[in-house]
Amino acid sequence: MQDHPHFDVIVVGAALAGLTAGLALSKAGLDVAIVAPAAEREDRRTTALLAGSTDFLGRIGVWDAVRDQAAPIAVQTLIDATGRLFRAPDVAFHASEIGIEAFGWNLANATLLAALRAACEDAGSLKFITGSLRSLELGEEVSTARLEDGQTLTASLVVGADGRNSVVRREAGIGAREWRYPQSALVLNFSHTLPHNDTCFEFHGREGPFTIVPLGPQLSSLVWVQTPEHATDRLNWRTDALEREIEERMRSIFGKVTIVSDIQCFPLNGMIAHMLGKSGMALVGEAGHAFPPIAAQGFNLGIRDVEVLTQLASGRPREKLGAIGRAYHLRRAGDVALRTISVDLFNRSLFSGFAPLHIARSLGIGALASVTPLRTMLMREGVAPGSQLRFLSRRFSKAS
Ligand SMILES: Cc1cc2nc3c(=O)[nH]c(=O)nc-3n(C[C@H](O)[C@H](O)[C@H](O)COP(=O)(O)OP(=O)(O)OC[C@H]3O[C@@H](n4cnc5c(N)ncnc54)[C@H](O)[C@@H]3O)c2cc1C
Repeated sequence: MQDHPHFDVIVVGAALAGLTAGLALSKAGLDVAIVAPAAEREDRRTTALLAGSTDFLGRIGVWDAVRDQAAPIAVQTLIDATGRLFRAPDVAFHASEIGIEAFGWNLANATLLAALRAACEDAGSLKFITGSLRSLELGEEVSTARLEDGQTLTASLVVGADGRNSVVRREAGIGAREWRYPQSALVLNFSHTLPHNDTCFEFHGREGPFTIVPLGPQLSSLVWVQTPEHATDRLNWRTDALEREIEERMRSIFGKVTIVSDIQCFPLNGMIAHMLGKSGMALVGEAGHAFPPIAAQGFNLGIRDVEVLTQLASGRPREKLGAIGRAYHLRRAGDVALRTISVDLFNRSLFSGFAPLHIARSLGIGALASVTPLRTMLMREGVAPGSQLRFLSRRFSKAS
């Protein structure tokens, strides 16, 4: 039998999820290879990281390197701009209400990717291999990965971090449920003449949310969800016309708007894998789940994938890594399904013409505006997902 380079873990994909997984697993003492083709284009998006995610990035030695370039989100304001009969009241959540400085921090993906990459390069037990996975043979103890250029590698655990069209997922024989939304997101950064006061604004419109997130002093990022036709049309507008439209939609709360980045457009769709892991294979990030950029859930969910995978792999004998997949699936399935369903329902409540959905959203937001324990619970849950469910189940078991 031919000898191939062998690793404890092969991570396929070197974007946000892949680099985070590779780094965390290598910090856990495992011998890791990250396999990916050279990056094709710069990721010009920004990511709002929840406090739980920045804690994890801190533990793997990345957060300190980017902290100064991230803008805090201390206030989150929801504004119903649907103009419908059943409108929700405006509601503002303040991080100080739950005794924390910020719900999260927003920073440029390029900054985070560069810091992750640098930390991976410094990690002694991590190797980058340039190439694309072509096929994968999952074995009980050893799995074999074949790359497009003919290289063959083996590992005890293979981590699919290769995005929504994951080859790892396909090769493991795992199907996925996929769907499309009648929406695209225009993404850009802009400077403004008035301060944002660390406030994120979500205007909920009939075509989707228009979300402004602080990015720096008098600098914010915009994710503007709308119909694909409107997005294509606006991409061709003159810059000054687009700036005026953005300013009007924001009701001029930030003063004059100047676009300072390229404008990117992302068609919106959703996907959830039928299984998140099996045998010696685990899917992290968008290889396992993808949904619209609403309420900063996507990569934050990916970080929780990596956190759980690292917990399962840490301290386990190397020869037992190949048994992690099923345990990983069981630990992650609930969180992933809950976030996918809630983002989907919320998104549909905006663009759908179904009045009961509008009523449910308005009542839900109305309750959050007026019922303090509910607000506090939601805020804590937003920052540390799962914490409130655990808290309630402890209270319930003490009471019974
Ligand atoms: C407009 C927008 C705004 C967003 N904002 C937020 C936010 O504020 N907060 C948040 O938490 N999330 C946000 N998200 C979601 C977040 O951006 C994604 O969850 C994240 O980028 C997914 O990263 P990933 O590494 O899983 O996948 P990808 O970025 O798709 O990376 C896949 C990697 O796999 C590699 N690859 C693919 N095929 C192969 C192969 N065969 N072999 C080897 N390598 C392969 C690719 O080259 C790449 O390196 C946003 C998304 C969008 C669209």
